[in-house]
Amino acid sequence: MRKVKCEGCGRRTPSFEIVNYGGIEQGYKQLCRRCFNTEAATAAGLDDFQHVDFEPVLLTDHAGKVHKFHFGVFLFGTGVALDAFELRDGNPGGYQFQVVAEPEEDLLALLGRLIEKMRRALAIKHIDDGEHGLQIAGPKVVRGLIDWDAEQGGSAPLLVIDGQEISWDEFGRMVAGFEGFQFKLEIRDKSEEI
Ligand SMILES: [Zn+2]
Repeated sequence: MRKVKCEGCGRRTPSFEIVNYGGIEQGYKQLCRRCFNTEAATAAGLDDFQHVDFEPVLLTDHAGKVHKFHFGVFLFGTGVALDAFELRDGNPGGYQFQVVAEPEEDLLALLGRLIEKMRRALAIKHIDDGEHGLQIAGPKVVRGLIDWDAEQGGSAPLLVIDGQEISWDEFGRMVAGFEGFQFKLEIRDKSEEI
């Protein structure tokens, strides 16, 4: 896991937790989430905002597989986002979830809301690993996340379905079995319930 020294508190922090904060005139600082949120709260006049670092949580999916989730709190102008993510090779990957709230909302209550959302999602299986490889499972509804596929350089996305990375080609093969059927594609913000 690549670590970067926070220019606020000096703590060596995983690179995915580092935020570039500042502007062209005053320059940019590399800050950990705690230092970033503290500065953002001061700038927004949110005197009561208290950053919280949540410990990782283990949750079990529909197949009984255990997933370890890390959390990140991110304060932005009009709200606070709480992210949950797994790590793959030291970087966020696999299942990823987010909830967004007003900055005044209690972060522990927000964590409870996020974990309920994660439980609901982990209970659902969208793809089956059958004798012909990966297939779209019974109800024929697929939910997932659109990610960046470094190998494709932006010409095709990487999909994350059931916490598994699925290439666009692989997904195409899974859909090709439904020739003659219709489909409906909706794209929603990460914080929405789908
Ligand atoms: Zn810091």
